[in-house]
Amino acid sequence: MAVIGGGQLARMMAPPAAELGVPLRLLAEAVGVSAAQVVPDHIVGDYRDLATLREATEGCAVVTFDHEHVPTEHLRALAADGVIAHPGPEALVHAQDKIVMREAMARLDAPQPRWAVVASAADVEAFGLPCVLKVSRGGYDGKGVWVVRSLEDAEEPLATAERTGVRVLAEELVDFRRELSAIVARSPSGQAAAYPVAATLQVDGVCSEVVAPAPDLDHDLATAAQQLALRVAGELGVTGILAVELFETVDAAGAPQVLVNELAMRPHNTGHWTQDGAVTSQFENHLRAVLDLPLGSPAPRARWSVMVNILGGEELADGSEVGRLYDGYPHALARDPHLRVHLYGKDLRPGRKVGHVNVYGDDLDDLLERARHAAAWFRGDLGNESE
Ligand code: ADP
Repeated sequence: MAVIGGGQLARMMAPPAAELGVPLRLLAEAVGVSAAQVVPDHIVGDYRDLATLREATEGCAVVTFDHEHVPTEHLRALAADGVIAHPGPEALVHAQDKIVMREAMARLDAPQPRWAVVASAADVEAFGLPCVLKVSRGGYDGKGVWVVRSLEDAEEPLATAERTGVRVLAEELVDFRRELSAIVARSPSGQAAAYPVAATLQVDGVCSEVVAPAPDLDHDLATAAQQLALRVAGELGVTGILAVELFETVDAAGAPQVLVNELAMRPHNTGHWTQDGAVTSQFENHLRAVLDLPLGSPAPRARWSVMVNILGGEELADGSEVGRLYDGYPHALARDPHLRVHLYGKDLRPGRKVGHVNVYGDDLDDLLERARHAAAWFRGDLGNESE
């Protein structure tokens, strides 16, 4: 099996691949990136170059991804060579292009925010303010998303679109209660498994914390969210993991509902809790699905699972924060022998995701406190305080 992209998602596929005895071949974007540190069989090159993709996938029956950016025409060319991509190009485009995704959700009659393609200030005005403008392609972690309250706010996104040639869509500014994530695995033969719906806290467009299952989530709404994700996976022909990012809100009559925000077709940050908190992790089920093997149970191991991301904090004036990451180990591990730590082999930089911690158990408040405290040690916050 080949994996394109050397980020932390590819890195975290390596342990279950080793356990299942599945050899991995990696195309990394640079020497020494996160996944290249743990996958010995890797080449370094550009995923936009077909010859490089061919070299990376030679002798592999299937190819999957750490990110969604491999050009569709290259995936078709690989398929003609006999290397099948999971997810395939027809499904993947819905994770690459938000306008294509919105059109598909409309076709499937999936609940979603009001939206429209916009190209000018007049279009934005006609759509109505306030709204959210998004580039249809290439955004991530909140980059490429603007909350627009005045026409002046729309200038930057429209100029970005004009400069890059990427289309822009407007969405109603959803007044959500919280963000949810429904993750499913689906195999080419159509078997599917749904994980418990998780609640996710985003700070500045970046996932910060995840609790699974989402606390106080209406039972029927949780079931509806899982069924929605299964239906989207089936209708779009997704293979591997599909994460459906949702807004929890209320409809005009005051009844709870979910609206589709975005689709991701790969293991997702909101599913990292499954590494320790579920019988089968999203990474293992992604591999099983890609190989069309029977899926593992997505059942949780405990009542609650909590994941907290470790993000680089503000750099100190002398840059001394960089390299502090491992200083957190003695403290965090000594304080909590049940803590599960996942670091990505990345340098600590402001705002960068460099790892996460997982805990699971019965007492949600205790789990949140422990996971936040551990993440703070790794960030260096606590170390700085005590100096
Ligand atoms: P990205 O591709 O960067 O992940 P998203 O479309 O998921 O972009 O948006 C990032 C964040 O911006 C969301 O997690 C949410 O907090 C906020 N957001 C996005 N769309 C809307 C919307 N229509 N209404 C309110 N908030 C939104």
